[in-house]
Amino acid sequence: MVDVVCIASWNADLVSRVPRPMARGETVLARSFDISPGGKGSNAAVACARQGARTAVVARIGRDDFGRMGLDLWAREGIATEHVEQVEGERSGVAQILVFDDGDNSIAVAPGAGTGLGEAQVHAARATIAGARVVIASNEVPQAATLAAFRIARAAGVTTLLNPAPAAELPDALLALTDLLTPNETELRSLAQLPADAPLAQGAQRLLACGVGAVLATLGAEGCCLWRPGVAPLTIAGWRMEAVVDTIGAGDTFNGALAAALARGLPLEQAMQRANAAAALSVTGQGAIGGMPTAAQVGALLA
Ligand code: ATP
Repeated sequence: MVDVVCIASWNADLVSRVPRPMARGETVLARSFDISPGGKGSNAAVACARQGARTAVVARIGRDDFGRMGLDLWAREGIATEHVEQVEGERSGVAQILVFDDGDNSIAVAPGAGTGLGEAQVHAARATIAGARVVIASNEVPQAATLAAFRIARAAGVTTLLNPAPAAELPDALLALTDLLTPNETELRSLAQLPADAPLAQGAQRLLACGVGAVLATLGAEGCCLWRPGVAPLTIAGWRMEAVVDTIGAGDTFNGALAAALARGLPLEQAMQRANAAAALSVTGQGAIGGMPTAAQVGALLA
């Protein structure tokens, strides 16, 4: 039995630190290079497990060095891997990340073997999904896999959480199966086809009208805002962190910590507080998982 199932992307993050965004055709010398674990799904699973939730990943990886790196990570973090498929002859996902001096970043993801994650693999995990409290997915995994997982979850009364990142069009069928949608501001505008000058609330209302249970937008350093049908919006201010190292994985930490808190049975408002605090702590550490806090660290910040 697990509390949270992540329909997960897995990438090795190839991270170069460069002074600033480059112009087209420009080459710069990077300050440093490192390889670290990534993938929105895997990151959220790690964040969730560090909050104490029993967590499983459903993922597809290559039988290569980067795939082994994923299996080692999940083993270290206590994440169940019985539904991970390791495929001969395919490459594991890779993300090339540029981190700028101001802490912002640009990312290109090549999902590799993750592209083949499909309905059959999700159906093989049916019992695990139906027995969980929360199922998470993102736009880094094929929509057919997310749809299959959310159908199983909905039929079993399991909460569905979709991080619509990176921005992509979502079919109405998927929106209607989503209890909680967690776009960042850019994704919310893109999904709701909202002009740059229109208020985010208008976009959130459009998505609620499509059948999403609640829209919880992450607003970077500003925190997050929740919209539910017929209820006044709820904003939680961001934490002012002194030493921001990078924001890689902030959104994933938010989603993983949110899922863990909901799986513990906390009300949505409290789960949001914990997710906001966990994500703030994550920006003080390096890379996607370097700063992901434990439940005790989140508790200490909120105390
Ligand atoms: P990323 O793609 O960098 O992982 P994102 O764009 O998905 O992030 P954001 O909205 O930037 O998501 O950030 C997610 C959450 O992380 C925010 O809602 C907030 O709780 C926290 N956060 C992000 N940046 C900061 C910051 N500079 N200071 C404090 N908290 C932050």
